[in-house]
Amino acid sequence: MIDLRLKVDPLPLAEPLVLRLCEHERPDPSEHDACLIRREADCREYEYLGFSVRVHASEDMPLDGDVLMIVPGQASAHRLVRASSKHNTLLVTEQCDQLCVMCSQPPKKHHIDLFDQFAVAAKLAPFGAYIGISGGEPLLHKDRLFDFLASATVARPDLNFHILTNAQHFVTEDLQRMDEIGLERLLWGIPLYASDPDLHDEIVGKPGAFNRLERSLSFLMRAGASVELRTVVTKQNWANLRSLSNYVVHRTPFISVWALMQLERIGFGRMNWHKTFQDTSADFTMLKAAINLASARGIAVSLYNFPQCSVPETYRQLAPSTISDWKRKYLDFCDGCSARATCGGFFEWYSHSEGFNRLGPI
Ligand code: SF4
Repeated sequence: MIDLRLKVDPLPLAEPLVLRLCEHERPDPSEHDACLIRREADCREYEYLGFSVRVHASEDMPLDGDVLMIVPGQASAHRLVRASSKHNTLLVTEQCDQLCVMCSQPPKKHHIDLFDQFAVAAKLAPFGAYIGISGGEPLLHKDRLFDFLASATVARPDLNFHILTNAQHFVTEDLQRMDEIGLERLLWGIPLYASDPDLHDEIVGKPGAFNRLERSLSFLMRAGASVELRTVVTKQNWANLRSLSNYVVHRTPFISVWALMQLERIGFGRMNWHKTFQDTSADFTMLKAAINLASARGIAVSLYNFPQCSVPETYRQLAPSTISDWKRKYLDFCDGCSARATCGGFFEWYSHSEGFNRLGPI
């Protein structure tokens, strides 16, 4: 697994510090650049405003252009942006007003506002970066989030953002701010788990969530926003998938993509694995019905987090590699598989003894 934290020697800081590691001359120098001055076996020393910043990392780890956040009193730095990766996500809050049965990042009560630091990080990201925003529920801090997006998009017209939200907080007045930021720069990833309001509410642990979500979807459609509808496939919604597909076709035809997703075995996903995980390698029937219906009506469908060999051959082109590089792994039997280059494999925390039954090299 790729480490998203790096050991650093402590610095005398009063506030979190964001800096970019530079190992070569850059075309876009910044006051936040820390320049490499010494390189040892497992440690690199950078100079930043006269201070020495010592980062402990293996010799072969690419760090040039990475954006780090060093928090006072901590001996490790957060790698906010990895310049060599397409999978950079900023976790802007751990608070959430839902309690989804499969949540991979169970909510916490407290919130630490780091939007100012994230704004600096976004401005230091590589050209053309696509930055993920996740939580918790980012829109619980909507004003700060919109300020962050506005400042980042003004400073860096080349950036785009993918924002995960439970869509419980959109109101008509948001349209002006979204327009200012640029609707075309934002893709909203929104979970919808069932066509049956009670079932959706039960899965997300919040009465009335479905109705509120419908209002938000209607608002986003009128606004002309880009939406990626996300449905984690579980035992709970398995029998509802065809009906959900019908709902997507008739009620949300404006979406950019409908992502059907496999479960991530961490957080509540791990705690509730046995009552939630649906082995789609053994039975693909409901998915097949849902995909066929949606595709026939022109909805773009994608399968996220599915190992390619868990998907019938006819549908494999719908299963791109979606698991972020830092939390992706392959199993022994993947060696020699012809699909390995395009297959997203497994989450680092996937346990095969409790997972898919029918897998193997293609
Ligand atoms: S054997 Fe491994 S690499 Fe091949 S399709 Fe299955 S999970 Fe992917």
